[in-house]
Amino acid sequence: MRCDLPLARGGVDPLVPVRESVDPVRLVREGPSALTGAAGRIGAVRVLPVTARGWVGVERGGEGPRLASIPLAEAERLIGVGRPVLFLGATGDAARLALVLDADDEPRSGPWRWAALRWCGHLLGDDDAALAAAAAALAAWHDSFRYCPRCAAPVEPRAGGWSTACTGCGAVEFPRHDPAIIVLVVDGRDRALLAHNTAWSGSFASAIAGFVEAGESPDRAVAREVREEVGLEVRDVEYLGSQPWPFPRSQMLGYRARTVGAEAVPVPDGQEIEWARFYSREDLAEEIRGGRLEPPGRASIASAMLRDWYGGELPEPPGAPDPLRRP
Ligand SMILES: [Zn+2]
Repeated sequence: MRCDLPLARGGVDPLVPVRESVDPVRLVREGPSALTGAAGRIGAVRVLPVTARGWVGVERGGEGPRLASIPLAEAERLIGVGRPVLFLGATGDAARLALVLDADDEPRSGPWRWAALRWCGHLLGDDDAALAAAAAALAAWHDSFRYCPRCAAPVEPRAGGWSTACTGCGAVEFPRHDPAIIVLVVDGRDRALLAHNTAWSGSFASAIAGFVEAGESPDRAVAREVREEVGLEVRDVEYLGSQPWPFPRSQMLGYRARTVGAEAVPVPDGQEIEWARFYSREDLAEEIRGGRLEPPGRASIASAMLRDWYGGELPEPPGAPDPLRRP
């Protein structure tokens, strides 16, 4: 992997051999002894607060954000009022659970508060980043996937939340994530293309991106999206790396590509793309410093690809919002 991808760092051991039989509620009530099959290794149970919109609980105070852990008694109370709990797996000697809360469940003054993973993911430690990505992905999936696509009966979680089973026909489903390409297009003068989507506010701009269509390869999707959105032909399509983007369920596949010919002029489609232009490194830094261009968020793969091309950290825009602000 060539880029530093904030949400592709660290790991969670999903404990696949034992998760089929895991009961997350029992783990909260009884602690590590409820995890049969891995009991020798697991010495603690930690419960991460998360929402279905990609918010994660972080500890208040301290140096740098760390994922919060709700005391088991408090987690049991919240489960009692209907909050779902999911089994994420293990990091170190701790079994890790996600408690899917509402925005209002944040304590007014307590040990933790909400932060948006999409804004703060780059500040988390490696395993925290992986845990938060898994928690956000599973929480969003269960929130949107409540009924069977075959018979429309309600589904219920299985394997600690890593699958669902239909209460009508028994069909089993697994968490969905949709492949999407994102491509940093570079022209004959080594300038990078950034585009402003009509759905975005202010001066925010990013690399060209789009979902891989049914039956399409990601490499073909790169050429198609660039052609559709800015009317350019590309060559030398090079894969840079990938990371989950669980807002709610994308798997981002990052590429770099070169334009065909020395002088390429982007022509925005006017539907999805409002404006697009090529930036030299100097132009980019100047526009960001002058507040005329808001670059992609530091946790995104777009930022990683842009920094890879730029050759280091981008300048900080004036008045840049706090990545740990309440979402
Ligand atoms: Zn069904």
